Amino acid sequence: MSGPEVAIDLGRIERNARVVAARCAEAGVKVFGVTKGTCGMPQVARAMLRGGVVGLAESRFENIRRLRDSGIAAPIMLLRSPPVARAEEVVRSVDISLQSELAIIREISRIAERMGKVHDIMLMVDLGDLREGIWPNDLLPTVEQTLELKGVRIAGIGTNLGCFGAIMPTPDNLGQLVAHAYKIERLAGISLDFVSGGASSSLQLLLDGTLPAGINNLRVGEAILQGGIETFREQPWEALEFDACRLTADVIEVKKKPSRPIGQSGYDAFGNQPYFPDEGDRLRAIANIGREDVLVEGLTPIHKGTRVLGASSDHLVMDVNDADPPVGVGDRVSFRMSYGAMLSAMTSEYVEKVPMHDVEIAPRRKMVQIVADRRAAAVLAKQGVGARLEAMEYDVVEPGDAARLPAGLMRLSAGGDRRIALSALAATVGETHSLGLIRIDSRAALEMQRDAAGAAMENSVLSQALGRMDEKGPLQPQLSPENVVLLGLREASPAEAAVLKQSRVTVFTMADIDAMGMRDVMREAIRIATRGTVGFHVSYTPAATEISGWAEGSGGMTVRETHQAMELIALSAGMISMDVSGLTASLDERVTAETLSFVMSAFGKRIL
Ligand SMILES: *Cc1c(COP(=O)(O)O)cnc(C)c1O
Repeated sequence: MSGPEVAIDLGRIERNARVVAARCAEAGVKVFGVTKGTCGMPQVARAMLRGGVVGLAESRFENIRRLRDSGIAAPIMLLRSPPVARAEEVVRSVDISLQSELAIIREISRIAERMGKVHDIMLMVDLGDLREGIWPNDLLPTVEQTLELKGVRIAGIGTNLGCFGAIMPTPDNLGQLVAHAYKIERLAGISLDFVSGGASSSLQLLLDGTLPAGINNLRVGEAILQGGIETFREQPWEALEFDACRLTADVIEVKKKPSRPIGQSGYDAFGNQPYFPDEGDRLRAIANIGREDVLVEGLTPIHKGTRVLGASSDHLVMDVNDADPPVGVGDRVSFRMSYGAMLSAMTSEYVEKVPMHDVEIAPRRKMVQIVADRRAAAVLAKQGVGARLEAMEYDVVEPGDAARLPAGLMRLSAGGDRRIALSALAATVGETHSLGLIRIDSRAALEMQRDAAGAAMENSVLSQALGRMDEKGPLQPQLSPENVVLLGLREASPAEAAVLKQSRVTVFTMADIDAMGMRDVMREAIRIATRGTVGFHVSYTPAATEISGWAEGSGGMTVRETHQAMELIALSAGMISMDVSGLTASLDERVTAETLSFVMSAFGKRIL
């Protein structure tokens, strides 16, 4: 990996979410996890949901679309009122939105009515922070006028503090919010689901035991993503972990230089007149990150004995004189980030975002379960696949032995056609919380056709896997399109091409493989399939490969390229399971033999 990157530790995020959600639950407060700090990254959202938040909250449509595209079906709250022109998108994509202007509420209602829906809103009350919110005197009239609208329902009221005016949440101002809620319920005769008492900063009252009764919802971002470094500045909440998101950059120069610049001083590149105290000659390092990537003032180096001296657009200058251990060219340096720095790094296209798990993933045992449909079973038996895997020192487990399947087991599924991929994926999804998919096939399989029994046809298995054929796919949200790679594509109908263009699936066509070479393509494919997942499933169809004299593979990758792809998969150690399709008694004998030798390569067979 080269260049600046943000490493996002999903394990820490999950644990922080669990701490916050559990503590809030004791006080009758339900938590919505705020993902805007990580641009709605689906892996982060899923980690928060695993930790126990009941919904997600986001400020931007692009991010909400990213969450929904990943099959996340949890309630989503829009944290910011939309412009009038996007009212329809609000009704379509979120479950509840924060509102403070009647004109926009009216428009949302009009559109929701036209769509035959009722959209939930949370009315925001300004308790003194002076950002968004209805002024308390205007609250009841606004409620009354909103009640006349048929397309919206007032699901709750909320407030935002500590943002614009830096006003702290207190028992007094949040008590006022609860009093407003009671008044609305009494005078308007409605009952409110939510009384939302703010963001991470309100957690301090919860810990102090002074959060007013009646507050039943909080929208928490910083405390989960950063462990509350900004929220609990004076008195850390010990149970939360810092550094779930860390920025890392490369050291590109280390030299001893004077601490004061030499010559007549003017303005720096950003119009400031910097001042540098004279500390004599010091060892300085330059890291390859700057103001174009991140809010530099929000960076704190984690490396002992180092500090940031300043930065220009692409260079960060550090004092590393007292670094322990010493810093050299080629080393990587890491930084803790303020919320502002995190936002800027996450939105910079120059900074790579790498979601990862801090927990050691149980190493795959050399143990494999073989599952085959009727047609493929005969082929596997004839080719002695079980014995060949045993010869590679795999322990081969019968499919019926499910009760004693240990963690780390791999699975090989074989079928007469591509539909085997669906049952194979479903089994793996059931055993993991997030996985990637590398599909090596000539076809996209993104049509939308069903057989007489209502099941996806062979040319529609990826549509089914990605949840396009049902309201919610059986494989989501564990399988996000952001972790899906199609490799070796040679055929896609115009409809399939259109779907691929707007999906978040990565495609390497035969032309891409020719241009980039298999090694680079596979490296990228494996990176995408493992981003924030516990591993990946491989789906292989013989038609992907050109085998001389066999028409179906014509124009596909070569035998050698296919082996190379499989060898790199084995080397990555990220494969959890694999399916291979098209195995029937009528398949050309040589094609069958090649196909099974590709499978052996994926399971780690080497020449020496
Ligand atoms: C960003 C935001 C939050 C979350 O704030 P944190 O300090 O990250 O917990 C909550 N509510 C609204 C309206 C926001 O915009």
